[in-house]
Amino acid sequence: MNAIGDTSRAPYDPAARRDTPLARKIKEQLRERRFLPMSLFVERCLVDDEHGYYRTRDVIGSGGDFTTAPEISQIFGELIGLWCAVVWQQMGAPAKLTLVELGPGRGTLMKDALRATAKVPGFHDALSIVLVEHSERLRAAQSRALAENRCPLEWMDDYRRLFDSDSIAADRATIIIANEFFDALPASTLACHGRSGQGGDQNIWIDRGVALEGDRLIERTPVESDMADGALDAAIDERTRRRNAYFPDAAPGDIYIEQDFSPFAEVLSRFERAAALVIDYGHVEPTLGDTLQAVRDHRFEHPLTSPGEADLSYQVGFGEMTGALREQGLAVDGPVTQAEFLGGLGLAERASRLMAANPARAHEIETAALRLIAPNAMGTRFKVLGARSPCLAPLPGLPPQEF
Ligand code: SAH
Repeated sequence: MNAIGDTSRAPYDPAARRDTPLARKIKEQLRERRFLPMSLFVERCLVDDEHGYYRTRDVIGSGGDFTTAPEISQIFGELIGLWCAVVWQQMGAPAKLTLVELGPGRGTLMKDALRATAKVPGFHDALSIVLVEHSERLRAAQSRALAENRCPLEWMDDYRRLFDSDSIAADRATIIIANEFFDALPASTLACHGRSGQGGDQNIWIDRGVALEGDRLIERTPVESDMADGALDAAIDERTRRRNAYFPDAAPGDIYIEQDFSPFAEVLSRFERAAALVIDYGHVEPTLGDTLQAVRDHRFEHPLTSPGEADLSYQVGFGEMTGALREQGLAVDGPVTQAEFLGGLGLAERASRLMAANPARAHEIETAALRLIAPNAMGTRFKVLGARSPCLAPLPGLPPQEF
């Protein structure tokens, strides 16, 4: 979740384990169950009902574990708000528009977006807002940030069930925005296990997980005793073939983080006219390597160190996301780097205007704006991808991908 490069990469002790309440709860369960796949472990760490990271603490900002772009500069939310207004105009300025934000954090992006678009004729009259947020604490923060908002506003829990809401309809124009949301979705940690016996031309991949070693949590590739009979004889299915198409030269022991973007693509494809904007850190091509990272109090630590008390996140696989979106018949624009995207939307002009209007804060405004586009940090590590119903024009600031 954090902006890598903004966080001091403190050396961590890979053997360190803290006996957090969630660590104790998971260990208790592992005495019965023996093995917990990494995706379920990460899910528990983030959203366990009692001890999940997002449930129990104020995670974002200087007092939290990480800082995000909207918290760095108001220009971020303002430019995204204007982007949404332009997309709405490109859609023909429909009388009703649903604006969905996935994981709105403290509500800062939405607040800045609404302020920046207040004067766009007709835009606010068309808007209904849906915030997808499962943390009660963050919902309360969002409600405070948006206290002055007059557009219809509702909260939902699960982005996969958007259509449960009355304000979501397939025939209503919809824009979905997500900043640093997909990096927090639990993913599978797969280990390449070598060629299969069945034909021998395909590598098989095995889901790693967490087990107990004495009283200590460890991560491992499952052994026979962890698994139901035969579970290690993984069938060569479509997902296996896809992994092997990405990585024909994978060697035993290589790790692949597999995120599942198909629920997002499926939801988006159900709309007649929808556009989505996804901003996150990640890579453009499918990449081997374990990108699961843990950050506590602005420092990196091993992901097993403090279950429930550290932010866990992954690099987002934009190549895989593109594949999942196209499979559902959607068009994809970008990805481009955050620096290119914000630069193209007029970050410099917006910053100059703000500085002229607030000379006493000019230095602070400039520093914050530069941080969003800094090379080898947020500006290039973060990527921006657009997805749209194929009937819509290419999205602003994002070159369409060649087929
Ligand atoms: N977009 C915000 C916050 C990023 S933090 C910003 O840029 O500041 C991630 C956000 O996603 C938090 O609001 C978190 O509570 C929410 N979140 C993470 N996983 C979620 C899930 N599976 N369902 C709903 N919300 C989730």
